[in-house]
Amino acid sequence: MDKAIYPGSFDPVTNGHLDIIKRCSEIVKELTVAVLENPRKKALFSVEERVEMLKRITAPFPNVTVDYFSGLLIDYAQKKNIFLIIKGLRAISDFEFEFQMALANRKLNPNIETLFMMTSNNYSYLSSSIVKEVASFGGDFSDLVPPEVYEMIKRKFSKSGCKKRSF
Ligand code: ADP
Repeated sequence: MDKAIYPGSFDPVTNGHLDIIKRCSEIVKELTVAVLENPRKKALFSVEERVEMLKRITAPFPNVTVDYFSGLLIDYAQKKNIFLIIKGLRAISDFEFEFQMALANRKLNPNIETLFMMTSNNYSYLSSSIVKEVASFGGDFSDLVPPEVYEMIKRKFSKSGCKKRSF
């Protein structure tokens, strides 16, 4: 396979995201990881910060590039000449939403295909929201995110001066 796009909020990037990026980069020639800029969703990290954390953790993969987009994913993909969308699947709870999105995207542009990658066992519970929840209460989340991201989250929460509490 040639080119693929892995879109998401990545607020923040977790080890689950990194696992999908790693595995996908071994399958496709060029992978674009794209941060969705969604003004309706309040994010902890700015788009610039999320692009920065993705660039840091994907530095070891020469065929991975990082970008951001707003608006429709299929419009962005078409503009970049990418016809394959990669999505990660965790539990059944992901399925309904992703199924709907994949079908809607196919209706909007039948040339663009969506492929799902099953999560690795140890990351099946992991989401950006869980990481934010644990970090906000001062719990140990060092196993949940790459070290570079860990530092960025620590800094973010120490600025907001949250109280320490065990998880
Ligand atoms: P979330 O906020 O739920 O972590 P994102 O929008 O950042 O979601 O996720 C981007 C993509 O990565 C989605 O396709 C999502 O299903 C997938 N993903 C997120 N976490 C994991 C995980 N732990 N294992 C596999 N895929 C994941």
